[in-house]
Amino acid sequence: MWANDGGQVIVLVEGFLGNGLGLPLQQREHAERRSAVVRSGESDAYVAITFAAYNAGRCRNLDEDNLCRIYERRPLVCRIYPMEINPHIPLNTAVKECPPESWEKGPDLIVGGELVDQELAGLIHRSRQADRDEIQTKDAICALLGIRTTALKGDGFTAYLPDMTAFATTLDEVIGQTLPEWGSEWQFHLSGEDVAGQVLAAGAEVAREMTPNYAFISLRAA
Ligand code: SF4
Repeated sequence: MWANDGGQVIVLVEGFLGNGLGLPLQQREHAERRSAVVRSGESDAYVAITFAAYNAGRCRNLDEDNLCRIYERRPLVCRIYPMEINPHIPLNTAVKECPPESWEKGPDLIVGGELVDQELAGLIHRSRQADRDEIQTKDAICALLGIRTTALKGDGFTAYLPDMTAFATTLDEVIGQTLPEWGSEWQFHLSGEDVAGQVLAAGAEVAREMTPNYAFISLRAA
């Protein structure tokens, strides 16, 4: 929808190895379910792919009165905000864009660790389910766009800004098709030689491009 409206999509990728490298144990179930099972060198790997709206500054759908022009058909992620979709990320009001007074209004969102608003809980469930249902399609779209390098979960993300004409064509080609079984191949971009050594030792492939078609967003503390 964002792409159809003329927006730029950013593709964010993170993965972990079949032996668990890169994966906190308590996140295994959630992380595996939203990931494609792929190959990297001699290793199994799991890759999670997010297609997100790329919009530096004000949202392109805000009007001059700061109201949403597409409110009735706004994306799921806007309907869910400020809640977290990832069950392993607790709600931290301090890092949200909502004005402080908005937290004082209305009933409590969370009581006893549980989200009270059932409609909102349903939207979060829909978003998680879509992540699971669409991962094979997203892996195929990435393959056709030449997106084949992932970061290691916890170490960073790889971020791609695909040409939007190519993106739209690829979407048309892949969506609604029955995808064949195929051995999707990925390589890893790491933040440093130490973690690259661990990935290589597990038999996975490490990226060595001099001019990559992506940016690496490191999560490693400076
Ligand atoms: S609700 Fe979403 S689409 Fe609408 S203005 Fe806000 S961020 Fe943009």
